[in-house]
Amino acid sequence: MAYVIAPPPVAAVAIAGSDDEFPVNRVYCVGRNYADHAREMGHDPDREPPFFFAKAPENLVAASELDGGGDFPYPSQTQDVHHEIELVVALKSGGADIPETQALDHVWGYGVGVDMTRRDLQGEAKKMGRPWDVGKAFDHAAPIGRLHAASDIGHPSQGRVWLEINGELRQEGDLNQLIWNIPETIAYLSGLFTLRAGDLIYSGTPAGVGPVTKGDVLTGRVEGLSGVKVTVT
Ligand code: MN
Repeated sequence: MAYVIAPPPVAAVAIAGSDDEFPVNRVYCVGRNYADHAREMGHDPDREPPFFFAKAPENLVAASELDGGGDFPYPSQTQDVHHEIELVVALKSGGADIPETQALDHVWGYGVGVDMTRRDLQGEAKKMGRPWDVGKAFDHAAPIGRLHAASDIGHPSQGRVWLEINGELRQEGDLNQLIWNIPETIAYLSGLFTLRAGDLIYSGTPAGVGPVTKGDVLTGRVEGLSGVKVTVT
């Protein structure tokens, strides 16, 4: 057997302090997982069940601050691209219906990502009852920094999350404000999909999302992790 075309490359994320890489299977994202962000998007932050959308592994952009960052070419068909700084969870194993108490056993490590969003196209999709893919899963939509192994840093459940544009603070929150924390998110997601090694989960963004313009330099950080740096080109 031979493939009839060359197989697509394996998407992978760099690891802090190592030349090894984390191979990516799928990229899940949690919507409205901080109350202040839910409010700024016009929603009641009461604890409704979490909801999810996906990006494609090829949307990932290597954007580690340690490596000088990455480029985000301003995307097509939009006038309103927003940044969303998020803690990213990387799974080393998976399963279906994972209990909360065992969820962290499946985590390889953590990183910092930006859920770039074509907000105008997402807004139109919401209004029309259409899927979010064009707003969320476009080229370069998932900048990500180097991952840190949980065996090195543990499992962060609190810590500052923030994003600056050109040195000015735009987003700020704390991991302890997540409406659905990481074990709860993994447990809930595994009830919808059989999770697998290599899956990433963008865990949601705090308040302060807003537009980017060409030339902006975004730096995003989660306390204790190496950050992301993205230049809008
Ligand atoms: Mn998001």
